Amino acid sequence: MEYILSLILGLFVGSFINCVVYRVYNKESFLKGRSKCPKCGHKLKVLDLIPVLSFLFLGGKCRYCKEKISIQYPLVEIGTGLLFFSVAYLLQANFLETGFFNLAFLNLLFYFFITTCFVMIFVFDFKWFIIPDGLTFTGIIVTLTYLLSQTFVFDVLSQDILLQRVITAFVVFLFFFALYFFSGGRAMGFGDVKLVILLGLLLGFPKILPALFIAFAIGAIIGIILMLFKKKGIKSEVPFGPFLVLGTFIAMFFGDHIIQWYLSLM
Ligand SMILES: [Zn+2]
Repeated sequence: MEYILSLILGLFVGSFINCVVYRVYNKESFLKGRSKCPKCGHKLKVLDLIPVLSFLFLGGKCRYCKEKISIQYPLVEIGTGLLFFSVAYLLQANFLETGFFNLAFLNLLFYFFITTCFVMIFVFDFKWFIIPDGLTFTGIIVTLTYLLSQTFVFDVLSQDILLQRVITAFVVFLFFFALYFFSGGRAMGFGDVKLVILLGLLLGFPKILPALFIAFAIGAIIGIILMLFKKKGIKSEVPFGPFLVLGTFIAMFFGDHIIQWYLSLM
């Protein structure tokens, strides 16, 4: 039951993400005003805003101007829904039994927040090759607050691990800054350099290693595929942020397993 609720919540958060990403890119306020069709500007009714279902019932077209709606909308909604479902499942969320005022529920909320952040970064960087600073900094501040509360309020994270997370964030930042600097910005954008601070805080050492490995591996594979199909030249950029958040999401939940598996091979 909790997992189904998380899935439904994720669908609505996905819809919210679509809206926020569009409005932030167009420099509109994302709190004020109703959602409208990007083509004809017609204000959307509640019926037009139901995740996935609206898209299906309207046949992927705007109710008013019949302009095609981007497949991005339902994909982000379904993707976020499935990610929320996975998070609830992996954290074994059972808030209907244990209630909402406990550490386990706080953890769940935190991972929902991080997932939301990651999906926004994914969409933004995938579409426009930028990672908004506001998004990265909000992620860093919330994560630091979460870690500090884990250490000093709930006493479930030792001060050593807290310090280790901060050092990890600093070291990966330096590593990525060097990559950025010595490649003249060709290897990655500065947005990625700032993003890894958040990823270092979330994962710490050694979990950051499988995250970066997965990111570089997927990036390389996608890069080669694009070159083979001559869609992109060697010089043109492939956004790196989507791979970084994907690698981090996997490492957050499976990092320990991946490291153990790797060590067992040696
Ligand atoms: Zn329209």
